[in-house]
Amino acid sequence: MTRLADLHIHTHFSDSTSSPQEVIEQAHTNGISCIAITDHDTVDGVQPTIEEAKRHSIEVISGIELSSEINGKDVHVLGYLFDCKDKEFADKVKIIQGVRIERMREMIEKLKVLNIDNITLEEVCNLAESDSVGRPHLATKLVEKGWVNNIQTAFNKYLADGAPAFVSKFKQTPSEAIDMIRKAGGIAVLAHPMLTKVDELIPSFVKAGLGGIEAYYPNTTDTVMNFYEGLAKKHGLAVTGGSDAHGDAKKYTYIGKKTIPYELVEQLKSACNV
Ligand code: AMP
Ligand code: ZN
Ligand code: FE
Ligand code: FE
Repeated sequence: MTRLADLHIHTHFSDSTSSPQEVIEQAHTNGISCIAITDHDTVDGVQPTIEEAKRHSIEVISGIELSSEINGKDVHVLGYLFDCKDKEFADKVKIIQGVRIERMREMIEKLKVLNIDNITLEEVCNLAESDSVGRPHLATKLVEKGWVNNIQTAFNKYLADGAPAFVSKFKQTPSEAIDMIRKAGGIAVLAHPMLTKVDELIPSFVKAGLGGIEAYYPNTTDTVMNFYEGLAKKHGLAVTGGSDAHGDAKKYTYIGKKTIPYELVEQLKSACNV
């Protein structure tokens, strides 16, 4: 039987509602034997998930999803197989998280100007098990306190890029994110290119050291996935995929919704070592 992998999974250390234990239970139930934890701007969920995985002999790969920006576009860069304890890497993650907390403070201030005055920094930060706090957490509080009916309205009215309570976060370019991952011994992969829509920039990312493309993604047609697989091959890049599961925070996907055969994990490992 083909071993299946899901290389894009979030935990409650960033903006998923799932604990490492829940992640492992779901991976086990859905027949996934290799997963990567790819939280936004934190690796705090990797080790606890490795511990949980021992009971089911599921392989857990170190991962992260770094935010970056170019030409005003958000570009998510996935990192795999790096050393989570690398000092330079860990220091940079701390800086990024510090900016996230400061930015959250500013967003809460902006909401106060709009008369939304009963949300505290502490309670928003408490929604994430790490310091990687973000807009989805603030959106959750806006819903919880009855200011809006759902997360999407929270974004549309207040938090979307350019909306009244929006504040931008730590700015690094995709090349800097790629560098950060490679210096820690990992391989950098362009996340969900079908959503990010920066195809014309891919050659420049490759020059900067990009090692792979996430061609397989949920709710995407075969035509689109085959296109990105072809693009990866054309540039000599590894091909990855995963569900981008966020527990109950994103109900349209779940662990195992999109899987890849384990051979692609082996190819990723080989590509990482060159
Ligand atoms: P942050 O990293 O704090 O800027 O939050 C980014 C996350 O917020 C994304 O990964 C999405 O989950 C969510 N998000 C960003 N923009 C929107 C939007 N316009 N509508 C809904 N969710 C959004
Ligand atoms: Zn997320
Ligand atoms: Fe993403
Ligand atoms: Fe993601």
